Formats: sequence, structure tokens, C-alpha cells
Amino acid sequence: MPSLLSPSPVWHPYAHLKTQRPAPRVVGGEGASFTLEGGETLLDATCSWWCMIHGYRHPRLVRAIQQQANTLCHVMLGGLTHEPADRLARELVRITPAGLDHVFFSDSGSVGMEVAMKMAVQYHQLHGRPGKHRLLSLMKAYHGDTAGCMAVCDPEEGMHSLFAGYLPRHHFAPAPTAPFDAEPDAVEQDLAALRVVLERHHHEIAALLMEPLLQAAGGLNMTSPQYLRGARKLCDEFDVLLVFDEVATGFGRTGRMFAADHADVTPDVMVLSKGLTGGYLGHAATLATGRVHDAFVGDSPLHAFMHGPTFMGNPLACAVALESLAVFEEEDYLGRIAALNEVLHNELLDDTRLAEHPAITDIRVLGATAVIETHDAADLVGVDDWARERGVWLRPIGRWLYTMPAYITSAQEMRRITEVMKGWFG
Ligand SMILES: *Cc1c(COP(=O)(O)O)cnc(C)c1O
Repeated sequence: MPSLLSPSPVWHPYAHLKTQRPAPRVVGGEGASFTLEGGETLLDATCSWWCMIHGYRHPRLVRAIQQQANTLCHVMLGGLTHEPADRLARELVRITPAGLDHVFFSDSGSVGMEVAMKMAVQYHQLHGRPGKHRLLSLMKAYHGDTAGCMAVCDPEEGMHSLFAGYLPRHHFAPAPTAPFDAEPDAVEQDLAALRVVLERHHHEIAALLMEPLLQAAGGLNMTSPQYLRGARKLCDEFDVLLVFDEVATGFGRTGRMFAADHADVTPDVMVLSKGLTGGYLGHAATLATGRVHDAFVGDSPLHAFMHGPTFMGNPLACAVALESLAVFEEEDYLGRIAALNEVLHNELLDDTRLAEHPAITDIRVLGATAVIETHDAADLVGVDDWARERGVWLRPIGRWLYTMPAYITSAQEMRRITEVMKGWFG
């Protein structure tokens, strides 16, 4: 058996194997912080890729998993059902925008998006429009790492350009540029760009996909609720389904329960993951409206939706997701998110010295999300070590230094994070 001191066989994600350093070993966590072997404690500014919204070792979430484990850890959803799946589906229908009445479970955000894309293509097929088999995505988009998802990520700046030859080709519209609080005029230009692509290619487009309001991994690009409303209208005009990838934005990240809520828009399909289980287990849900669902009601074998991940509706994941939602509502998480937003506003947006720093091109805040955008990824080299020396876990994406904290992060902890983010720029 290899000793713990020999190089680990664990292959880390997004890592340069030649230059990577040994990863710190996490032994536990409590609240917004996790602890490393040797006792070092780090305040997590990213809540583990934005999913650990209740922080680590939340007693209610831990108990929900333990209790469910005593009853039923897993059973297939093919031909069978169980109470946690049924209850979670009902809860998701209750809290999501009106009209999303059907829930397809899967095991990760990427697979949830694959399900959404297949649903959209099959929907048009079943309506006798087999030519509508391509997708329309936005530049700066990130929708996951599986093949179908890679094909709808930003094809230029995105991380998957190396696979261009392997992937199906879809259509892309420019990323929206109007900020969250933009005047309607500013949004018109973004919508006009979307219209151009739809006018030219709608006959082959099944769905428009977007991360509503916040394009997360592609650079924390934020836009206006007006853009969502305009996109909804364009989709109706061109008979294109609207798919919201709320894997990152769902469960409060933008300040409302869902980004769609800011715009009062119901997409045809919506995908949830990351925060769904409070990060405690991998799971995802793809919700569809009655219009989409009912297209699949029919007599031919082609009407079945041919997808079924082994672990879809896993009872442990459903049980902890139900508990996560209960805590979210009972403990006024939207209020906590508003309080975090206030700190982010005061400490980052209102800091005039920071705004004038020559390395910084923009600072954006939305809900419990803040980003300092720099000119060049080189401006952020070393920031993770520097933050760690100050007790904070930060992990920039390219030239974006950001925080998406757990919602249980206190105002004082939030300020510790913003101090470190600002401190890097002197
Ligand atoms: C993380 C993410 C995904 C992929 O989810 P995985 O669970 O990592 O497969 C998809 N879409 C968005 C917007 C994401 O942020």
C-alpha cells in the first residue's frame, strides 16, 4: 500500500500536473471555515465551488442524512418511487417560478443540463420539427464539463476550446453587456444582438440556454433582469424554448431565491444543482413546464424520454435537499444574503481607492456574489497563498478574484474576506 507520503494517485481538476503543488489536506469543517491537517483553519470565500451554502457540518443537514441512511440509502427511480423524491419534487415546484410543474432528477449540474438540452431537442422532434436540433448559447457561458455541455460553453475564451473538433456545433450570441441596473435602452442593444442570431437560425434552434443574470465560471458577468424578459419574448416569437441554467444562481445567490424571480420570467426548462442539497451530496433537478412535459405524452415509442442516471432521485440527496430548503426558509436566508450584500457593497463597490487601482478593470456585486476583475490573470498570481497566510481560502478564476460565501458567513467574517481581497491590491 502506498504511504500517505508518496505522491497521491488523486488526479486534481483543472490542474497543471507539472506545476501543481501538493493540495492541502482538509480534515473537517465548521460553519464558514474548514480545517486542514495540522490545525490551520481557513475561512472559505468560495463555499466550495458555491455549493456549501449552509457552511460545513451543519447539524440539521448532517442529521437529515443520518436519519435517511437508517431508512433507505438508495433505490432506483426506474419504475419505483419513494417519499423523499416525491416530497422534494413538490417542494421544487412550489418554490420555482409558476408553471414549472415537472421535475426530472439527475446527479450533477452537467447532467441536469444534458437532460435539459435533450428535452428541448426531443420536444421539437415530437412537434414535427426535427430540424430544430441545435442550441443557442451565449459567449462567456459555462454549462458544465460533459460533451453536450462543453459544446455550449464559450467556444473561444472558455476552457474547452481544445475539444472544438470533437464537439457538435451550436450557435452563439454575444454575452450581454448591460449591467444589472441598466436602463432599458442599454439592454436593447444586447437583445438586438440576440435577435440577429434568432432571425438567421431559428429554424434550426431548439432552445436558448443561459445562466440568468450571472454568467458564473465564465467571468462573473452580470446583466439586467430586462435582458431575461426580452429573451423570453424573443423565444416565444421564434418558437425556441428558453432554458435557465440556475445551477450557480439558484438558491439565493443573486439575492432572490432564483435569478428568474428578479425578472418575473418562467423559463420552459430550469436546471438546479450546486446549492440544491446545500452541497452535502451531488444532485440536480431539471424542471419543465406543462407545455414541455405534455409534448412527451403520446403513443409512439419516440415519446419516451430516454435518460435515467443510476443515482437520480437518490433518497439521501433528496432528504438533505429537503432539510436544506427548510433551513433556508425558516432561518431567513434571503435576509442573510441581503446583509452579506450590504457588506460587499460597502467594502468593495464603495471603495474609491480600489476602483482606481490600475490593475482593476471592474468591480461587480450581486446578491451574495462579488468580483474584482483585473486586466490580466498575471495580476492574481499568488493571491491564493497570500490569502491563505491571512486565514482565507480564495481561488480566483483566471483574471477574476471573487467571493461567493456560504450564507451563514457573519458580517465580520465577510469583512475579513473583503479585507483580504482588497489587501492584495495594496
Ligand atoms: C457548476 C456549473 C455547472 C456544472 O455542474 P456540475 O455539478 O459541476 O456538473 C453547470 N452550469 C453552471 C452554471 C455551473 O455553475
